[in-house]
Amino acid sequence: MNPPAIAIDGPAASGKSTVAKLIAKELGYTFINTGAMYRAVTWYALQQGVNPADTAAVCGLLGDIPISFGKDGSVSCIMYCGRMLGDELRTAEVNANVSAVAAIPEVRALLVEKQREYNTREAVVMEGRDIGTVVFPETPFKYFVTASEEVRAARRAAEGITESITERDRKDSQRSVSPLVKAEDALLVDTSDMGIDEVVAFIVADINKKLS
Ligand code: C5P
Repeated sequence: MNPPAIAIDGPAASGKSTVAKLIAKELGYTFINTGAMYRAVTWYALQQGVNPADTAAVCGLLGDIPISFGKDGSVSCIMYCGRMLGDELRTAEVNANVSAVAAIPEVRALLVEKQREYNTREAVVMEGRDIGTVVFPETPFKYFVTASEEVRAARRAAEGITESITERDRKDSQRSVSPLVKAEDALLVDTSDMGIDEVVAFIVADINKKLS
């Protein structure tokens, strides 16, 4: 049996990343950001001059993509030619194109395999869109973290990002493969009126209850 896998899913700017990181720290588990993995494939396609909407061309890159998915301490990281990818994964261009790349079944198959690999060795807190529905459908630890559209837009604006998260959420929710959807057995956590510490405490308490 694999170590525990905590699945945290939700729309853009729901606070799931911050929350997942803190939960991982509190439990001593590894934090895995799967959005960064889809962003890395998108970034690489753009680097290569490939149109992210050209499914065949993106798939053509996957065979020998020079990107590796590892760990930096207890946090997932992405390496390209000996350096760690960071800010380049969060540009407006990547934001605008990542949903198209993430809708390609071959991309998802490759990344889901890598995501599951992390959990064969260690307990993980993994955040994304399909962790509870597709990556770890059997885990009893599933949380769907969300917030009202106004609150999420305000949080993004406070980070200085003007992206239309509504549009990205629409694409992520409407794609045919692994759409963003709450797993039936996931606990819904609406963070609109909750502080970060409150959300973390609520989820950790539920995990501990299930573990005992
Ligand atoms: O979490 P983040 O906003 O960085 O994710 C970027 C994009 O990656 C999402 O908008 C979605 O298109 C894709 N994604 C996904 N499945 C995941 C994680 C992210 O399709 N598990």
